[in-house]
Amino acid sequence: MFESATNKFKADILVIDDTPENLALLSQILKDKGYKVRSVTKGSTGLRGAKAAPPDLILLDVKMPEMDGYQVCQHLKAEPSTKDIPVIFISALGDVLDKVKAFKVGGVDYITKPLQVEEVLARIETHLTIRRLQLQLQTRNKQLQQEIAERTAAEEKFAKVFRASPNPIAITTFAESNFIDINHRFLEMSGYSRGEVMGKSAHSLNLWVDPEIYNSAIKILSTNNSLHNQECQIRTKKGEIKTILLSVETIELDGINYILNIINDITERKHLEDEFISLVSHELRTPMSSIIGALDLLKTHHLGTFTEKGEQVINIAINNTERLIRLVNDILDLERIKSGKITMQPANYNADELLNQAKQAMQSMADKAQINLNVESVSAEIFVDSDRILQTLTNLLSNAIKFSEPGKTVWLRSKVYSPYLQIEVQDRGRGIPPDKLQLIFERFQQVDASDSRSKGGTGLGLPICRSIVEQHNGRIWVESTFGKGSTFYVLLPLSDKTIAILNHQ
Ligand code: ADP
Repeated sequence: MFESATNKFKADILVIDDTPENLALLSQILKDKGYKVRSVTKGSTGLRGAKAAPPDLILLDVKMPEMDGYQVCQHLKAEPSTKDIPVIFISALGDVLDKVKAFKVGGVDYITKPLQVEEVLARIETHLTIRRLQLQLQTRNKQLQQEIAERTAAEEKFAKVFRASPNPIAITTFAESNFIDINHRFLEMSGYSRGEVMGKSAHSLNLWVDPEIYNSAIKILSTNNSLHNQECQIRTKKGEIKTILLSVETIELDGINYILNIINDITERKHLEDEFISLVSHELRTPMSSIIGALDLLKTHHLGTFTEKGEQVINIAINNTERLIRLVNDILDLERIKSGKITMQPANYNADELLNQAKQAMQSMADKAQINLNVESVSAEIFVDSDRILQTLTNLLSNAIKFSEPGKTVWLRSKVYSPYLQIEVQDRGRGIPPDKLQLIFERFQQVDASDSRSKGGTGLGLPICRSIVEQHNGRIWVESTFGKGSTFYVLLPLSDKTIAILNHQ
């Protein structure tokens, strides 16, 4: 058809006319213009030829013996392989051309004899152009249909993966974090129905135990595009707390940014891990007490004297055993606070006194490290377990001192934001990289793996602080500029008395 014809000829035209002179004339005109022409004198031969090799256009005489032009056209239109070929009728001036019939049987145009060469060529060219455009449109339509079919199949595949995924998945808007789609596992895990979740945000459903973790994950997302396995906790509809690993990724749908949230529920694994660690720690306690007892006996020369080298070895053994005991005690402490085996004993305390007590407790460590300790506190009453809050503050101060260079200052401040007191522990130390700001509150997480050895830490201080603060219904977080210093913030409840006084001011 057009394609093969365009190589050598403008188009392939079949002329069916019973008058040989007409045929010869038409053929010559068309050939001169670069068309490939086939000519036949009988309708039936023309039909066979058209079927065997469909031309791009047919010129068809109306008046012919045996089968007239209308009949030939009807046959052409009834045959799938020839039905789309444009047919132009030719009629002699004396003949009565039934134009209505010509169009009804499928003709696209007609020309009358004697032939006006310019007119014939113009009409042929017009209909060939229409036909060419029609074919292009058909091809494009076919391509589009195929593309749609492929796309639908791909979408169906992803929809199936989304629906059947064993991981809870949610798609949320970037701007407001509203749910636009969630899978079945997400609903199962959260306990909500689809209707209760769609269009709402996790914040409005009170899903995050610590919304700040999600907020900072999203902040990281605006520079990083993805964040993987952020441990956080969610609250189900029934109020159950689940520990999850959250991976978030920016995705673009129709030019709008969304967030793909993939969740790994590790509540059960965490529980077993906690149980295992506390069981092992518990079992280690007794033998370790006896080891330290034995080492003490050796060190105090109750069992004889040692060479200088021997003394050194005993000191190393004592140091390491004490570190192990600290670790085991911290693990058990954390487990007891988290599981509620240790309950907080809150009472009203003057925050100013508590802050100064924490300073006193850390003064000798600060002196040794040549760090200035500065307290700037307000006099307000807080409703807390004083021993546990002291433990928290000394822990934060100890870190601030540990990670600062000699000569620097560490501040311990308090400010009132009713109904909370905000305590700040600020240093000008080495700072914490942005991707570790949440992580360091998790068990055994240290910015630098060598910290536990060089700074004597266990990686449990901050998780213990967080558990204590959470037991007070408070909040703890850190802001830091890497290389410049960090500020740890603790929010604790003010006493009712202080709140009442503040309300009357
Ligand atoms: P550790 O016993 O190692 O101090 P923590 O849980 O108290 O355990 O702290 C975890 C990690 O957080 C530390 O090892 C350190 O990498 C980082 N970190 C904590 N506080 C600070 C701080 N003030 N400045 C810099 N890094 C800190």
